[in-house]
Amino acid sequence: MDSQFAPQQDVDNMVDSDNVTINGFMFCARHGLELCNKCPTDNRGANNMIVEDGLHEKLSEEEYNTKWQGDDREPFSVAHQWTRVSNGKPACMEHKEVGCKECFDWGEKLYRGIHGHRKQRQSRLHKKDKHPHDESQKEKVMH
Ligand SMILES: [Zn+2]
Ligand SMILES: [Zn+2]
Repeated sequence: MDSQFAPQQDVDNMVDSDNVTINGFMFCARHGLELCNKCPTDNRGANNMIVEDGLHEKLSEEEYNTKWQGDDREPFSVAHQWTRVSNGKPACMEHKEVGCKECFDWGEKLYRGIHGHRKQRQSRLHKKDKHPHDESQKEKVMH
């Protein structure tokens, strides 16, 4: 139609009748699922192609080979996390931002899923250290 007026369409963030694409990752438009048995669709293979190079760079060879599950990884869901904004683009529910880097940074989410457990465990330990009374109580119990 008016294709001349939109030579640089943002194909990484768009909605059509079957799919919603957010930051290059495709989900079924009806359920917001990457892997959906109802539609049915499995977008993991296509979506992985976008992030796999970046993951390979960030992760060590061992992590990439042993922990990256590729097309069998846990699928993402954007159900109830996206909405169509006035220009017809899909945006995140929380910030109403198209291609939101906070909500839809797929490469970072996958990277954290593989590599990010250590940080969480450390912060939990720090919280425990902040209770000096617990230790004295423990000593009394032990005596
Ligand atoms: Zn579906
Ligand atoms: Zn957001």
